[in-house]
Amino acid sequence: MLRCEHVCKRYPDAGDALVDVSLNLGRGEMAFLTGRSGAGKSTLLKLIAMMEQSTRGNVFLDGKDISRISERRIPYLRRNLGLIFQDYKLLNDRTVFDNVALPLIVSGYPHPEISRRVRAALDKVGLLGKERKHPLALSGGEQQRVGIARAIVNKPKLILADEPTGNLDPDLSAEVMNMFEQFTQVGVTVLIATHDIELINQLGHRVLTLEQGHLLPC
Ligand code: ADP
Ligand code: ADP
Repeated sequence: MLRCEHVCKRYPDAGDALVDVSLNLGRGEMAFLTGRSGAGKSTLLKLIAMMEQSTRGNVFLDGKDISRISERRIPYLRRNLGLIFQDYKLLNDRTVFDNVALPLIVSGYPHPEISRRVRAALDKVGLLGKERKHPLALSGGEQQRVGIARAIVNKPKLILADEPTGNLDPDLSAEVMNMFEQFTQVGVTVLIATHDIELINQLGHRVLTLEQGHLLPC
């Protein structure tokens, strides 16, 4: 589902953020991406999310080479991706329903289909009935679940999560991981960048470790 081949990234006026990174994640696989601050985790996620381009090497998403695609095709290809952030990135002046509906509105779905899919996504994260609330009226764990519902509403093949449990206590973190594991059951691939060693050790999925831009052998 995700393949990186000899990926290098150098920012202008900076050292190498990624050096010759190669990896392969299969359909329905869940993996953690870890390493110290500055190791290159965010950079790797940005290359996969088409927010940055590799300096050398190729990134394949579901067999398609996304390393040097035109700006014009990015929105279309991004529909295969669900992005989840540490700080949720919700629109606080919109309802839960509107937040989750956003990717579908951008994709131009008809209204009844939007309504059906938003409810299905909220159901999967246990938030059915909270459609009309605003994010700030919810707990942190609930806000992250809105973020997860928004990420899955387009039925992506790959979910990228950047420190998704960074603001959550251990119980809520476990709950979020549980949801990710359920998504893998239906064939979704999940890549999670995290510092949370305890969480990683508890769950026993594959661990990809970056050190100064190099992927360590596992
Ligand atoms: P994270 O919390 O994910 O490790 P960082 O603190 O490394 O994030 O970076 C925060 C943001 O600043 C990211 O978008 C990253 O790409 C950007 N950034 C990090 N280092 C630099 C830098 N030296 N120059 C410009 N932008 C940077
Ligand atoms: P992590 O997410 O593991 O903390 P990053 O991918 O944010 O690491 O950063 C990797 C390296 O690239 C760091 O040395 C950081 O300073 C540098 N970097 C990240 N983003 C930028 C940027 N936009 N411009 C210049 N340097 C950057």
